[in-house]
Amino acid sequence: MADKKVIVVFGATGAQGGSVAAALLDDGTFEVRALTRDPSKPAAAKLKEAGAEVVSADLDDEKSLEAALSGAYGAFLVTNFWEHFSKEKEVTQVTTPWNFFSLQGKLVADISKRLALEIVVFSGLENVKKLTEGKLEVLHFDGKGEIEEYFREIGVPMTSVRLPSYYENLLTFFRPQKNKNGDGYSLAIPMGDVLMDGMSVKDLGGVVVTILKSPSEYIGKNIGLSTEKLTVEQYAAIMSRVTGKDIKDAKITLEAYEKLGFPGAAEVANMFRFLFMKPDQDVEVTKKLNPKAQSFQSWMEENKEAFKDL
Ligand code: NAP
Repeated sequence: MADKKVIVVFGATGAQGGSVAAALLDDGTFEVRALTRDPSKPAAAKLKEAGAEVVSADLDDEKSLEAALSGAYGAFLVTNFWEHFSKEKEVTQVTTPWNFFSLQGKLVADISKRLALEIVVFSGLENVKKLTEGKLEVLHFDGKGEIEEYFREIGVPMTSVRLPSYYENLLTFFRPQKNKNGDGYSLAIPMGDVLMDGMSVKDLGGVVVTILKSPSEYIGKNIGLSTEKLTVEQYAAIMSRVTGKDIKDAKITLEAYEKLGFPGAAEVANMFRFLFMKPDQDVEVTKKLNPKAQSFQSWMEENKEAFKDL
């Protein structure tokens, strides 16, 4: 039997890469090379147990990336803006002492080109600054948009998958908060009555496997993912129905949200300003790529227990 082709998975110990690694291992068509900066962490051990080759690599270390990508057929790349809050670092990074232009996204693109990878699936997003002619900047989007453009510029066969807000954010960042008067809960997402796309990050893996198995159909495309478009009021109503708790849209304005003052609040508010413009997220295409992708109702039912202690 011929050796299986190798897919390198960045961020394999995290949400996106973890979903991709799990789906690839489950599908079995490809060998999975899972990257982490720390192969001794529990998530890495689990990947090994499940059949992945676990390799140590750092997006800031060119040599480690070159070794990790050698001999691979393709890769799934996710860069992590929130690790360093810097668009510059996500796109390119200056390392000392030689002031050498090391790269994260662009570095992976350059190495992929050098090693002639046949496909890279990149977790991209729109270059909002370019789309709005400089009127709006969303650094964690713009950086990914620049990386998409760079892959195309240097001619690496690449598909960009643009994720919407994960449903899983409702367990953490957007978790409903108890109202001050102790009566019910509020969902503080400043989208007004505009529909907001969402999906479970666990469904990304199935999407990426389909793309990797039919590359010619998807190379060169930017695919906006979504499994459902709902208003915050609709999200809250479904959450209330499933949990039996009274959860309502807090109807927080963008201006009030920005003033909450947590690290990155202005950046997140700018992201919502862009989401108001209804970026191109395609539910039909997402379901074609992953027919098992969950609706919000079904995700809530599966995660109901996690809201028990609201
Ligand atoms: P995550 O669960 O926090 O995982 C981050 C992963 O990145 C980890 O596996 C970590 O691996 C790896 N990593 C971080 N720095 C690295 C480095 N220098 N070298 C190698 N690996 C590194 O994050 P995620 O949710 O999967 O992905 C985050 C990205 O998703 C962000 O850029 C965000 O903008 C984007 N995004 C998020 C949403 C959302 O709704 N949350 C929606 C669309 C896009 P080790 O620690 O094991 O090395």
